Amino acid sequence: MTKRKQIVAGNWKMNMDYEQGRDLTKAVIDGLQPSDALVILGTPFIHLRNVASIIKDISNLKLAAQNCHQEESGAYTGEVSASMLKSCGVEYVILGHSERREYFGEKDELIAKKIDAVLGQGMEPIYCCGEKLDVRESGKQNELVAEQVKTALFHLSAEDLQKVVIAYEPVWAIGTGKTASPAQAQEMHAHIRSLIRDQYGAEIADSITILYGGSVKPGNAKELFANPDVDGGLIGGASLKAADFNAIVDSF
Ligand code: PEP
Repeated sequence: MTKRKQIVAGNWKMNMDYEQGRDLTKAVIDGLQPSDALVILGTPFIHLRNVASIIKDISNLKLAAQNCHQEESGAYTGEVSASMLKSCGVEYVILGHSERREYFGEKDELIAKKIDAVLGQGMEPIYCCGEKLDVRESGKQNELVAEQVKTALFHLSAEDLQKVVIAYEPVWAIGTGKTASPAQAQEMHAHIRSLIRDQYGAEIADSITILYGGSVKPGNAKELFANPDVDGGLIGGASLKAADFNAIVDSF
């Protein structure tokens, strides 16, 4: 079996002014222990260039943006394209986060286009999927996530799919303090991997990194990451404190 990349990615969301972002980045670097895991900082746009220059000599520390526009350039006031992100040193772009879906109306058809734009620039998408509470309560979470994954990703070639990191983030666990149990996370991750296996084959499915996101903390990261199909985490609130974030990185 291919050894999958293990990743802990922070999602700062709309937090941190310029100086706070610089200080947080430096504090994360100061607390980083040697690790095989890749660590990613997902920052607001204003930090990207500066964080890129602060982390440039640290081989397992990478930079992510939290969104991009699907078009290359043009009259889209207030938007930022994939090539612009690339020019700032960005290597990953978080796409399809539940907050983008909820507050900005993003659907998987649009997210698929953004994924193409990011891949077209040689960057790697971190594609977020996951069900809301009512779907979980009705027991339909597997169907819902299958629909999301198929619509957003299954137009990709096998080669391109292998550049995608998937983040399963049950919406009911994001920023709520409620975490999926390790068994719930494992079950959904195995389901996502089986969808990929059916479409692309076992070798590709085994190579895809699938992160869990939703109230991951230093206290629960170890048991979540210990699951065979959980390859790390996408971390919101706990990525804003270097000590917590680094403790999560040390949880493999
Ligand atoms: C997120 O923003 O992707 C997230 C998982 O947030 P939190 O860790 O705060 O639940």
